[in-house]
Amino acid sequence: MNKIEHIGIAVKDLKASNSLFEKLLGVPHYKIEEVVSEGVRTSFFQAGPNKIELLEALDQQGPIAKFLDKKGEGVHHIAFAVDDIVSEMARLTAEGFTVLNKEPKKGADNKLVAFLHPKTTNGVLVELCQEIPESL
Ligand code: ZN
Repeated sequence: MNKIEHIGIAVKDLKASNSLFEKLLGVPHYKIEEVVSEGVRTSFFQAGPNKIELLEALDQQGPIAKFLDKKGEGVHHIAFAVDDIVSEMARLTAEGFTVLNKEPKKGADNKLVAFLHPKTTNGVLVELCQEIPESL
């Protein structure tokens, strides 16, 4: 795995949280993107080398809505950049981690993503993400 690509934070009200994080980080969000398949609306901030993803539930049955119900707002996942998501998923499966996706899927911000079950990672939801090459 390479660097931490971003940290995902679950929020109840994306609009309010965009203002809050804009004040906190001193920069405005640079994009808002809906990932309908995941039932989520995201916004992204770049603060120096660090990227923050805010996640709001679009779908009340989706994973973010469930997370907010159970745990409330807060850190939702840590995403690591990988060069080859398919080989990294195979490596981690062989190491005994539970990869939640059979195949990488299209996530927000031009990424292929896959998640590791937090039961196998000390309670931390880990996202792998690989930049989608421009040729695809
Ligand atoms: Zn993420």
